[in-house]
Amino acid sequence: MKSDALPAEPRSKRFRFGIRTNLFIGFALLTVVIVALLWLFQIVFLNSFYKAIKIADLRQNAHQIVRSLDDTEMMYEAVATAAQDSQANVLVADGDGVRLAVARTSLNDVFSQLWPNDLRTLYQDTLAQGGTYFQRYIHGSPVDGGAADIIRGADSLESVLYVYALETAGGNERLVILFASIAPLESTVETLRIQLTVITIIMCLLAFGLAWVISRSISKPIVRMNRSAAELAKGNYSVRFAESGARETAELAHSLNVAAVELSKVETLRRDLIANVSHDLRTPLTMITGYAEVMRDLPGENTPENVQIIIDEATRLTTLVNDLLDLSKLQSGTVTLAPTSFSLTECIRTILHRYDKLIDYQFDFQYDRDVEVIADELKITQVVYNLINNAVTYTGEDKKITLRQLVMEDRVRIEVSDTGEGIPEDKLQDIWERYYKVDKEHKRAQVGTGLGLSIVKTVIDLHGGTYGVQSALGQGSTFWFELPLPKEDSES
Ligand code: ADP
Repeated sequence: MKSDALPAEPRSKRFRFGIRTNLFIGFALLTVVIVALLWLFQIVFLNSFYKAIKIADLRQNAHQIVRSLDDTEMMYEAVATAAQDSQANVLVADGDGVRLAVARTSLNDVFSQLWPNDLRTLYQDTLAQGGTYFQRYIHGSPVDGGAADIIRGADSLESVLYVYALETAGGNERLVILFASIAPLESTVETLRIQLTVITIIMCLLAFGLAWVISRSISKPIVRMNRSAAELAKGNYSVRFAESGARETAELAHSLNVAAVELSKVETLRRDLIANVSHDLRTPLTMITGYAEVMRDLPGENTPENVQIIIDEATRLTTLVNDLLDLSKLQSGTVTLAPTSFSLTECIRTILHRYDKLIDYQFDFQYDRDVEVIADELKITQVVYNLINNAVTYTGEDKKITLRQLVMEDRVRIEVSDTGEGIPEDKLQDIWERYYKVDKEHKRAQVGTGLGLSIVKTVIDLHGGTYGVQSALGQGSTFWFELPLPKEDSES
């Protein structure tokens, strides 16, 4: 069939990277991103970050001083903190230019040229400008042509100046000047650069090492599994997959093992089917031909008994062909049920009447009342037939068969028990499979087609019922099935 054929071009033939290459690429990309981010933040942006933080810090300290201007003690404290925290030169003066507090951090006094007069002018100018003045310096020169003369001797690469002029809540006129260096961290950046170079090398080695180890642990079991799967595809169902490696791969190997076992079962069933069907068809055909030839050639042999044998064998053939057709129709899903309401109890009584001919056998049907079910009567009849036929075939010397009808809350259970040899426990699952026969050599087993229980299973499944078997070796078997009861019946 076309759909079963392999794709003309197996997917594996198209170019694809292997797990190992993919992992290597992934780890390499991750390393590049991490190292790039580290370099960017530690080296390229470090100065800008440092400056931004320093300026924010300075501004916060300045505000602290401004808030404490009415309390001399607090003001001294704030000035000292600013000098220490932000490494700032601080000067506080009043509106007349008299210095109230000074803090210096560097040796040269950057405010040395500011005489009271200058301070007074600065106070008034700043007040006129809105109360604040900010200026950046590079090598002591104002960046955009601001007031150069406020500070002197500031030779640091980069620095900032804050000037505040205000009238405090207590009515004091105050001038606050902060000046701090925000020199770039050249030496720190150099140290970091060396460190980062080492880190980059270590990261690369680590990434490659890890990619190698991880890819090995993932790809190795997959490569092995792939080899086994190719064997399986060739039809070697005895192949097994090693359940090793990571959890997912071990689980995959386990599922594939289960699949391989199931495939080998199907293969055995298929072989058995061909053997069974050809055998089952040939036996009655040989008999029919044999008897017919005898009757044609020998005049005295044309007896009703011989004709009956031919009829019986033809009937057996019909049964086999019907069973085969029924099962394949049922299992292909093309059959729709024709449910009607009928008395299951009555149905079983009618079936048992047909066994009246078997006078050696003793049938016992135990029930307490008639039960109506909604089901496909023909199919259920077939189920009961199959179970009774099996019981007749396999029951023990006493030839006793017991049927029981048990009405439960919302369902009815039918049991068919015999007193035969029973079924070994490890076969209990398999007997429901098509063409399965526990003991193929057994004379009795040769009577059956191996399809009966498979039909029972499929029909009961279609009705939404349950089925099963209890069996003890040497003591007989009890096959049962349960059907749901219609609402009114289960309530009564
Ligand atoms: P068959 O036509 O061979 O009876 P079934 O599908 O009805 O096919 O049964 C499958 C197998 O289950 C039988 O071959 C037999 O080995 C076993 N089996 C079925 N019913 C009984 C029973 N009542 N006692 C013992 N074995 C049974």
